[in-house]
Amino acid sequence: MSNSLKAIFVACALSAAGAALADEQVVNLYSARHYATDEDLYNGFTKATGIKINRVDGDDAGIIARLKAEGQASPADVILLVDAARLYRGEQEGLFQPIQSKTLDSVIPANLRAQPSADGGTQWFGLSTRARVIVYNKAKVQPADVANYESLADPKFKGQLCIRSGSHPYNLSLFGAVVEHMGEQQAENWIKGMKANLARPPKGGDTDQVKAVASGECSIAVTNSYYLARLLRSSKPEDTAVASKVGVVLPNQSSWGTHLNIAGAAVARYSPNKSNAIKFVEYLASPTAQNYFANGNNEWPAAKGVEIDNPALKAMTSDKPFKSETIPISAVGKNMTKVQQMLDRAAFP
Ligand code: FE
Repeated sequence: MSNSLKAIFVACALSAAGAALADEQVVNLYSARHYATDEDLYNGFTKATGIKINRVDGDDAGIIARLKAEGQASPADVILLVDAARLYRGEQEGLFQPIQSKTLDSVIPANLRAQPSADGGTQWFGLSTRARVIVYNKAKVQPADVANYESLADPKFKGQLCIRSGSHPYNLSLFGAVVEHMGEQQAENWIKGMKANLARPPKGGDTDQVKAVASGECSIAVTNSYYLARLLRSSKPEDTAVASKVGVVLPNQSSWGTHLNIAGAAVARYSPNKSNAIKFVEYLASPTAQNYFANGNNEWPAAKGVEIDNPALKAMTSDKPFKSETIPISAVGKNMTKVQQMLDRAAFP
């Protein structure tokens, strides 16, 4: 069966379930997160509330396309996406609705959620954070030489930088944050400087960049923190060999702080089970859920005051708090088009 047919079947099954069992409490979840511990996380909610979760998996772009295609007939209640720029796009395209929740307003920091809408509601909330970090080959580079994102464009690294495609959402978000911190002109020069430093045309995901640093194909690279954490926690000898050759820097500790991206949740615009949807998002912000949510993918909890015990994250930060940027995360979405134009002008692949 083709994927689109499968998608139609799942959608029909969801609406049939909603219609036939009027008494049954459900939340229809469209999720771009797929981790083993997420199962336990969802079961915990059903156990506590009796509300069943019907999950449809996709990636960020696929879920956004699907919500648009389904329109008012969409059975979706809660949307989980894994990038701030994509959450912003969903908001701009009118796919979500603002929700009012004292719980979420008090536990999720204001800079990790959408800007308040006219009625004071919020269209999406960050639930976990990931840092975009610099990795370097320990045999070739000193950490002090890559202390800042700015160093990625330093001519001394000509031909030594590996990074995935500039227009990947993780990079659009990082570059969008840099525009906010440096201003447009400097950010564009920075992008041009990185282009001049590329060791090879961008290819693969973040893990591939880390591996290329370990193999010596490049000296420095950019990755989301959890890909590195996965390598650090892996029991596969080939992964630990990679991890042992690379060092990590949480950039800009002495200036504006390391760029954080988020995974987050929104309530769908036409949610047929809105109060269940809000309950579910509130559950995801609770300390137990935050632990599953963050540990399952080696991320930091977004909710205030939640501690996690993750050896790889501790190793990465020397078990110390680090400085992260404080700009509203929605700024990265706002700057996205500008950044894409800069990439085009710089011919950054
Ligand atoms: Fe990822």
